[in-house]
Amino acid sequence: MRATGLAAISVVSALALPACLGPADLGRAVGSAAPREAARGLTPSPLAGRTVVLDPGHNPGNFDHLDAIAQLVDVGNGRKACNTTGTSTGAGYREADFTLDLARRVRVLLLAEGARVVLTQDGDRPWGPCVTERAEIGNAADADAVVALHADGAAPDGYGFHVILPAEVVAGAADTRPIVGPSRSLGVTLRDAYADVTGEPFASYLGGGTGLMVRSDLGGLNLSKVPAVFIECGNMHNTADAARLSAPTWRELAAHGVALGITRFLTAAPATTATTATTSTPTGTANPGSNTAAAETAPTTRTTPPSGRVG
Ligand SMILES: [Zn+2]
Repeated sequence: MRATGLAAISVVSALALPACLGPADLGRAVGSAAPREAARGLTPSPLAGRTVVLDPGHNPGNFDHLDAIAQLVDVGNGRKACNTTGTSTGAGYREADFTLDLARRVRVLLLAEGARVVLTQDGDRPWGPCVTERAEIGNAADADAVVALHADGAAPDGYGFHVILPAEVVAGAADTRPIVGPSRSLGVTLRDAYADVTGEPFASYLGGGTGLMVRSDLGGLNLSKVPAVFIECGNMHNTADAARLSAPTWRELAAHGVALGITRFLTAAPATTATTATTSTPTGTANPGSNTAAAETAPTTRTTPPSGRVG
């Protein structure tokens, strides 16, 4: 739907999109909540023994370290800026603040499910990490799922959210062949759960109404060895989306949507997903929602990397 102008708007979106990584400290590993749950006689934690890496896009400090984040890093099929500042709403609420707040909310929910949770940055470093380090953190943690959290900066008349899946990339240090299938399962499951919980529609301005995009220009996906996706939670340049993204109560809802998607994926897929799964459909995650009609529609694939802002 709304095919007209999709390509042009996709470019705008891509320029504002993404991620970045940098070096450094491996995020914060947080211990499992399983023993506590068991002690209280509650249902066994469904995510006990599983590791989730949450990657809050950008860093509030990036604005003060523009030279550092502009350094080029190798993402396998090209060289990209280490990181970007991200976008913001018209009122000045920054994507970097949104993503960190959301990541912390999601972490609380996943810890309660018994998962081990690692953040690529937790407001504990002055800038970054670069996109390459963000991927490295997920790999080093041997994560069962990596979810990069972002909000878009597309044209103001576009609204909705989308999930970005890794394209098949085999170049330099990048070889996404083992993760394309499981990442798609993760992404579709996440998309459906997020839509169900938040009611946020699939993006109106890209993805052909599927809420999915496939990209080959994001270092965080290109260099990942474990299932990884990005979610663009809404369009910060759209008035209605911006109001939601700026509201703590809505962010809590968004956190529940993200956590539910991750939980559904991890409880439906075998632990060896990254090396065995090749299917492109999620297993056991069907959940009728307002947007599921387009669920298995092929996502739009971007073949031309946007210049500059990439993760
Ligand atoms: Zn972003």
